[in-house]
Amino acid sequence: MVSDTDPVVNADPVVIVGAGLAGLSCARELTRRGCRILLLDAAAEVGGRVRTRKVDGFRIDAGFQVLQLAYPEAQQQLDYAALKLQKFQPGALIRTQGRFVEMADPWRRPQAAFSTLFNGIGTLADRLRLGRLRADVMRGTVDQLLQADDMPLGDFLRQHCHFSEDFICRFLQPWFAGVFLEPDLQTSSTFFRFLFRMFASGDVAVPALGMQEIPKQLAIGINPAEIRLSTVVERVSSDHVILAGGERISAAAVVLAVDGSAAAQLAGEDVCPATGRGTVCLQFAAETAPVRQPVLLLNGDGPEAGPVNNVCVMSNVAADYAPRDQALISVSTCGIPEQDAASLESAVRTQLQQWFGDTVGQWNLLAADRIRFALPLQPAGMLKNLAGFRLSANGVYCCGDSFSSGSIHGAMQSGRLAAEALALTLG
Ligand SMILES: Cc1cc2nc3c(=O)[nH]c(=O)nc-3n(C[C@H](O)[C@H](O)[C@H](O)COP(=O)(O)OP(=O)(O)OC[C@H]3O[C@@H](n4cnc5c(N)ncnc54)[C@H](O)[C@@H]3O)c2cc1C
Repeated sequence: MVSDTDPVVNADPVVIVGAGLAGLSCARELTRRGCRILLLDAAAEVGGRVRTRKVDGFRIDAGFQVLQLAYPEAQQQLDYAALKLQKFQPGALIRTQGRFVEMADPWRRPQAAFSTLFNGIGTLADRLRLGRLRADVMRGTVDQLLQADDMPLGDFLRQHCHFSEDFICRFLQPWFAGVFLEPDLQTSSTFFRFLFRMFASGDVAVPALGMQEIPKQLAIGINPAEIRLSTVVERVSSDHVILAGGERISAAAVVLAVDGSAAAQLAGEDVCPATGRGTVCLQFAAETAPVRQPVLLLNGDGPEAGPVNNVCVMSNVAADYAPRDQALISVSTCGIPEQDAASLESAVRTQLQQWFGDTVGQWNLLAADRIRFALPLQPAGMLKNLAGFRLSANGVYCCGDSFSSGSIHGAMQSGRLAAEALALTLG
């Protein structure tokens, strides 16, 4: 009998297209099982959407991204100590009606419980409802949580949890619109409940040297000779891939670990939705940080107040994100605003001048990344239909966050599950 840990002996490699978190997790798991692989990616570095580049000595992540330390898959696959994780202060500062108020998690930051209770957002009953929701999502296993009834998040918060409109609009909406990159709260309530549990049960952090340290760590488990970067794949089938330029590579099996829009194109059938949610992330250098705390700042006054959804002084969280005596400020929108780059920058500065004063005019723009496909669509009912990976009609294994959930956890889990299924088939 073949066990799922016996080495797999394959003459042709398993070709994995995409060296994001899903492709890396898949490659690592197959390597661990003794399987020959070849990991291809169009980009010059591993990481996919989780990338960090250096600009004038600042570490610029590709969009505002964080790691929830409670993610079960990250706990299983990553060496947290080696990442030298730098933690955020739990909760957020909300900019509303001309001032900042703190919304802290009283379980994880009890010293801020009193100010949170009387911060003027929502009612006392909302605090009790939040406590009930917290208890509810912490009950049972994560798998049980994912089986719960699903509905659009807005309906869940209003009709199921009965939060007040004020509490939703000034706190829950800006927070989760920023997480899901969609302002209308149409995302699956089940996915929300999973993430709420993650926020409630662990810290949020970034690696000291940038988010790309995560995929780089995953790549350590793969033979460098089995990774080919700057290699665009044009066509795939169950036993070969064709590269741009025409080269044909034979494969024992093929895994597509690309984002939803590339998967829809390469798989040759509707394996997943081709569209996703986007964001623009502007990163500024400043002589002085506008706030001292390593905390997320949220726009609690809605889109009428301007395009900014959230702000974070990244160098307050991880000092190595900026050169000494400088601050790195990350500013994100929810969705892609229609303005061109110059008008968007101007609107962002105008809005943030109201938050931090005229000093914003002296901030130096380091980067403005328009990320069209940041997250897959994640409507209600989605999780029940996703097995983590999919075998397409032409025999290609498809994985990635579009087949799991739009998160670091989802991408890594998806890659591992595809590898386990494939190893059993090959074995
Ligand atoms: C701005 C932003 C913020 C986010 N915030 C968070 C967060 O805070 N917490 C969280 O958990 N998740 C967050 N995410 C989501 C998380 O980053 C993704 O879910 C995850 O990285 C997806 O990994 P993946 O491997 O599925 O896909 P990808 O990272 O997209 O990897 C796909 C790879 O396929 C390659 N590829 C595509 N087409 C081809 C081709 N034809 N030939 C060769 N290679 C190809 C690409 O170059 C890419 O490297 C965020 C994402 C973004 C963009």
